[in-house]
Amino acid sequence: MAGPERVAAVAPRFIELEVLESQQLSPHVRRVTLGGDEVSAMTPQGYDQWFRFFMRRDGQDELRVPTSPATWFPQYLAMREQQRPWVRNYTVRDFRLEAGELDIDFVCHEDPGPGAAWAMAAQRGERAVLLDEGLLYNDDGLEGAVLVVGDESALPAIAGICGSLDEGSRGVAVIEVGHRDDIQRFDRPAGVDVRWVERGAARAGDSALEELRGLSIDAGLGYAYSAGEQRLATGTRRHLVRERAVDKSRITFTGYWKLGASYVS
Ligand SMILES: Cc1cc2nc3c(=O)[nH]c(=O)nc-3n(C[C@H](O)[C@H](O)[C@H](O)COP(=O)(O)OP(=O)(O)OC[C@H]3O[C@@H](n4cnc5c(N)ncnc54)[C@H](O)[C@@H]3O)c2cc1C
Repeated sequence: MAGPERVAAVAPRFIELEVLESQQLSPHVRRVTLGGDEVSAMTPQGYDQWFRFFMRRDGQDELRVPTSPATWFPQYLAMREQQRPWVRNYTVRDFRLEAGELDIDFVCHEDPGPGAAWAMAAQRGERAVLLDEGLLYNDDGLEGAVLVVGDESALPAIAGICGSLDEGSRGVAVIEVGHRDDIQRFDRPAGVDVRWVERGAARAGDSALEELRGLSIDAGLGYAYSAGEQRLATGTRRHLVRERAVDKSRITFTGYWKLGASYVS
């Protein structure tokens, strides 16, 4: 059986934004704050609320984006190649709706693709557009402990999930980061234990998987969520299903990126 259903965005539409500020938060994370009148039209859903993010390519004098939320991809493909924007997926790190502001934490990785490069270069006033996609996290009211596993690309999602869980929730979050200074503080229920692991020289995801294998997960696991490098996400699921006999219907897993491969478009 497949995992839980996604939770759709509430009234998805294209939201036009403008860069307000950009700061290097830690060795691998750059926070870009965007604002605009349209931010307050978004409905915060908490958890791992994610969106398509459309960016101007170098050499383009303006940002053009598709117009239909439902058929944006064919529209995008129909655009002349020189006019197409870059598109990548990101997560809401923080919303300040009254101020019309939104933070995105971009992982600035080696071999930067267009997303990371855009964040590194983003200047105040640069325009961008997002299309809200809703949530992948869906514990569907399942009772029991929560297990969350990810790398720094999923840190905004994990922070959002921990900040959205009921106060009485219990569980474990395993987060792999490239450097100990990439560790962030975020609100979480007292019963959720956060285990940070440093990648060191290991392959992306291996340190988090090793931590997971050593975890004593209580028998009352209700729901598990894993996101980050492809092999980390699939490895988490495989471990839980094969070694811990967790039912697939209780696991959401998403490869956010793939080592050595660019996101297409
Ligand atoms: C639902 C969802 C939510 C996401 N939220 C976030 C978010 O909030 N913040 C965030 O930073 N990312 C997030 N991601 C991941 C992000 O979309 C990908 O990392 C994306 O590939 C980055 O695009 P890029 O143009 O920088 O690199 P690409 O052009 O896709 O890839 C270029 C090279 O960089 C490598 N690479 C890509 N991402 C990483 C990485 N994180 N670490 C190390 N190497 C990498 C690739 O393996 C490739 O070799 C999310 C993905 C999904 C599906």
